[in-house]
Amino acid sequence: MKKFSEIKEYVKTNLPNDRFKYSIIIGAIASVHVFLVLLFILLRVLPLVIFNICSVAAYAYCLNAIKIETDKNLIKFFYITYFEIILHSIFATILVGWRFGFPQYISGLIPFGFYICVTLLNCSTKKKYFIAISFGLFAAFSYIGCRIISTYAGSVYQLNVPTIVELLIYIFNAVCNFTFLFMVTLIFIIDMQLSANKLTDQNAILDKMASVDPLTGLYNRRSMQAFFDHAIESEEPFCLVMCDIDDFKKCNDNYGHDFGDIVLKEVTHIIHELETEHGYVCRWGGEEILILSTENLDTTCKIAENIRRNVESHNFLYNGKIIHCTLTIGVASHKQGNTIADTIMHADNRLYYGKKNGKNRVVTPYDAA
Ligand code: GH3
Ligand code: MG
Ligand code: MG
Repeated sequence: MKKFSEIKEYVKTNLPNDRFKYSIIIGAIASVHVFLVLLFILLRVLPLVIFNICSVAAYAYCLNAIKIETDKNLIKFFYITYFEIILHSIFATILVGWRFGFPQYISGLIPFGFYICVTLLNCSTKKKYFIAISFGLFAAFSYIGCRIISTYAGSVYQLNVPTIVELLIYIFNAVCNFTFLFMVTLIFIIDMQLSANKLTDQNAILDKMASVDPLTGLYNRRSMQAFFDHAIESEEPFCLVMCDIDDFKKCNDNYGHDFGDIVLKEVTHIIHELETEHGYVCRWGGEEILILSTENLDTTCKIAENIRRNVESHNFLYNGKIIHCTLTIGVASHKQGNTIADTIMHADNRLYYGKKNGKNRVVTPYDAA
């Protein structure tokens, strides 16, 4: 079975793109017009039959062209849809009157216009809103205009249909219009959710970039503070282990900085393999690695010794030649009441002691006495 996170990832990467969404909207509007062609044939309103046939042809063109147009040009399909719906509403009102509810479709153009202008127009936000509001106001005036036309001019065709037929046509138009409103709202909400997800992902990446050292992938010094705070608050025993590569400067001088970087990465890898289960590892400074170990002192000393041994026996390859590097390590157990700085100082002192006494060794509270 797929994990929830995998399904979420799949949905995120496979959600319909802009073209697909506009194709669905245009396809739905075209289907309504096909139905209207049949309806006006039955009602014998020839001009509206012709108008709707032209509309279906225009939408068929849009559906075809939408596949090849550049993203920048997708806006023109909105203009076609917008003016077709306004013209159809006005034309239908003039010919058959207000009572069948054809102008209802105009209301759907307001959220649609906002959605399209905000997502597709390539201009300042202020301009996008100005255009969207202008389209919205024009739609509202057209709707009111239809009502005024029908009140003062009546209709060209005096259709003598039973009340139930008139009601059914009105309901059909209302259902289509509300379906359109639902579709636009749903697409808008999905888009918003997707943008929010994208933002969360980007923030997580930025967070990671800010807390991780790019060369080694270890936590950096700044982000380690949170783990120190947590360790102090939990009042559980913990140890700090300060590791420093021996004669790293010489290594850089002899084999180059790039090889030095490889050594740092491989040492990190060795430490990570042995330590990740027991605590947190951070790049404390240049070639100093600090471990916060949540194990007791004895276990921490054993882990430190294993790290030292594994680094010592590791073959670092420089142009096919095997190079050996070593680590000196200072271990300190945190005493309640001490600060983190105190414990780091103890670990550092032991590291320094190790450096002065032959390097390649682990100095623990047991030897430093
Ligand atoms: P010791 O055994 O006493 O620790 O000697 P050392 O040479 O390791 O110590 P020192 O502090 O004198 O030199 C550390 C060197 O680490 C100097 C610096 O150029 C090198 N270094 C620090 N960060 C990096 C890095 O990211 N990549 C590489 N290649 N070298 C680094
Ligand atoms: Mg060093
Ligand atoms: Mg150093």
